[in-house]
Amino acid sequence: MSTSTVDLVDYDDAVRRYDPVLGLEVHVELGTRTKMFCGAEVEFGGDPNSQVTPVSLGLPGALPVVNRTAVEYAIKIGLALNCSIAESCRFARKNYFYPDNPKNFQTSQYDEPIAYDGYLDVELEDGTVFRVEIERAHMEEDAGKNTHVGGADGRISGAEYSLVDYNRAGIPLVEIVTRPITGVGERAPEIARAYVRTLRDIFRALGVSEARMERGNVRADVNLSLRPTPESPLGTRTETKNVNSFRSVERAVRYEVSRQAAVLDAGATVIQETRHWHELSGITSSGRVKSDAEDYRYFPEPDLVPVAPSRDWVERLRAEQPELPVERRRRLQGEWGYADAEMRDVVNADAVDLIEATVAAGSSPAGARKWWMGELARRAKSDDVELAALPVSPAQVAQLQGLVDSGRINDKLARQALEGVLAGEGDPEDVVVARGLEVVSDDGPLLEAIDAALAAQPDIAEKIRGGNLGPVGAIIGAVMKATRGQADAGRVRELVVERVG
Ligand code: MN
Repeated sequence: MSTSTVDLVDYDDAVRRYDPVLGLEVHVELGTRTKMFCGAEVEFGGDPNSQVTPVSLGLPGALPVVNRTAVEYAIKIGLALNCSIAESCRFARKNYFYPDNPKNFQTSQYDEPIAYDGYLDVELEDGTVFRVEIERAHMEEDAGKNTHVGGADGRISGAEYSLVDYNRAGIPLVEIVTRPITGVGERAPEIARAYVRTLRDIFRALGVSEARMERGNVRADVNLSLRPTPESPLGTRTETKNVNSFRSVERAVRYEVSRQAAVLDAGATVIQETRHWHELSGITSSGRVKSDAEDYRYFPEPDLVPVAPSRDWVERLRAEQPELPVERRRRLQGEWGYADAEMRDVVNADAVDLIEATVAAGSSPAGARKWWMGELARRAKSDDVELAALPVSPAQVAQLQGLVDSGRINDKLARQALEGVLAGEGDPEDVVVARGLEVVSDDGPLLEAIDAALAAQPDIAEKIRGGNLGPVGAIIGAVMKATRGQADAGRVRELVVERVG
């Protein structure tokens, strides 16, 4: 791995002088009960090598059988991406040696993908819709997982030994490959991110995968090249492998634009290669010089018959297609009564599912939005994590808002209660009790505080007595301060008016 630091061109400068072209390859692990070509059960987090069969270990004589559900899921994905579904297609062997690949080939599809020639409309942050052309969606199997022990950053170089877990080997994947995405300009990072997020939403809507990025259910390979002008032929691309968060997709594109611009500015040529993404430093580094397809010596898989989905089956799946993300978003926006811009912010913050769950747990849509897009969004940003990764559940947010609605706490106290929830102190209810955050509803202490405030500010007290309620806020403020924010401001106002009346 090359660790030499490289000069980068400022991003805005780079996209002024070069035209970026994207290409995205997204792998999604299908949520089938068993593997692609054998009956090994698939479950996240099992003991290493406990979910294997002779087929997924590539033992001599073991013969694969296609998982029908995986084919069904692949067709559903193809239909959602507006693809044609092949009348007949074959699997192919993609030959390469690597320890996580026990057969020395990956069973994939090559020139006969199950779905091809589609498109996906992606909504960007300002509401613009950008169409991404899909070249193909094909079926394949996942590889096992290598763990390199003893090295500095978990990579093989410098490791003392490596472990291989074949539980993942043979899990069904669908790989979705775009055509070169042109016309993206300076919005390349945003478009890449929005595309992957839209796909993730589709996988979930279809129920074909949990599509959890943080578990590696969805992984993106980000291809990027630069050319001098939109009229120039395509430049040489790099492929940054296995980027597994939306934010990283965006950052990887930005980084490669800046890096490749520097290479081209220096009069050098971009090398066609795969690159590694480094989450912490936000850079890519050289991987291996990219193999052309010929190097894999693809040939049709002799142990499997072609897959020929009947038109009846395809049409039935088309008719059963569930509500897709764009329609769902429109429906929820209507149900929640959000303005267009509010809904877009919610979508861009990846908060649709969170707010839906919060509303389902009893919160008002406005209350749910207030917390997820306000305090929690700020917290996610400062902690540099996705919203969903915050240690608070939609049910807890709903409970918090419930405490506000019932008048037991006000917004200010609720923020303190939320702080406690995020700090692991339990549910909002527990935090309110433990930290003594409840609003003072007993009039006794409030009247005491009001009298003290009136006595301390006699000129204001005089004005209020004279019927001028303008400065009443100063008294309320003093009472809030005296009760450490635990007074109900509305009640305090009523009491002040009564007191001076
Ligand atoms: Mn692949």
